[in-house]
Amino acid sequence: PYTTLFRSSIILSKRISVLSVPIDCITMDEAVSKIIEMTKQSGLHLVATANAEMVMLANQDPVLHGILNSASLVVPDGAGILWAAERMGERVPERVTGVDITKELFKHAVSNQIPIYCLGAAPGVAQQAVSNLQAMYGTINIAGIHDGFFDEAEEQRIINDIKSSGAKLVFVALGVPKQEQWISEKLSSLQGVVAIGIGGSFDVLAGNIPRAPHWMQRNRLEWLYRLYLEPKRIGRMLAIPKFMWTVIKNK
Ligand code: UDP
Repeated sequence: PYTTLFRSSIILSKRISVLSVPIDCITMDEAVSKIIEMTKQSGLHLVATANAEMVMLANQDPVLHGILNSASLVVPDGAGILWAAERMGERVPERVTGVDITKELFKHAVSNQIPIYCLGAAPGVAQQAVSNLQAMYGTINIAGIHDGFFDEAEEQRIINDIKSSGAKLVFVALGVPKQEQWISEKLSSLQGVVAIGIGGSFDVLAGNIPRAPHWMQRNRLEWLYRLYLEPKRIGRMLAIPKFMWTVIKNK
């Protein structure tokens, strides 16, 4: 049921494979300028932010795997991805996280008045995130906002709304792999649009979940801070040691 995504004709920077999932070795600035270029091209461009959990999931979920293989851009979100690349003798320049790329794209969109659609998170959260971003960067051209909890009838309205809104950047925060599947299944007919799956980024940008202190981010310990804030994530986070073990074994 999943339509093949439009693969960018833009010449991409080096693409490596981490446990058979493609990762683009790209900086934040390069990612932002490539995404802006994609909004001027035909087709729908899916951007994914990859971490250890997503890679492990893709290894068990052929649909997610297929989507990532045909994504226009897969940015290195998690510290585990940088670690795995280094072990393979590759260099990923920096982490390009969902929260940071959302901020950068909003900043860019403000100066260029690019229309944005925000989908996902609990009611009011994306709205709060947009207000906070607006306070930082100035007036945002908002094409639409909707929370991420909807039934089928509402879903159809959302899809029509996104299609008719003229949005060029669509941020989808429904969690992995729902957001990637949703984008490729429901938005594939869009033209000149970039849709990016950003997980829990609206929760962070709304101020509901604090970001890890800088020293923890620098020392690749952001995952530990997330665990401290939400101990119930422990089950999901077991993907990190499993990922590391699989990378070591595969060498
Ligand atoms: N979410 C949603 N609809 C759903 C399930 C989840 O809008 O049906 C939202 C949820 O409120 C949260 C985000 O999706 O804002 C998932 O956050 P999480 O930190 O789990 O993302 P991930 O770790 O998958 O990137």
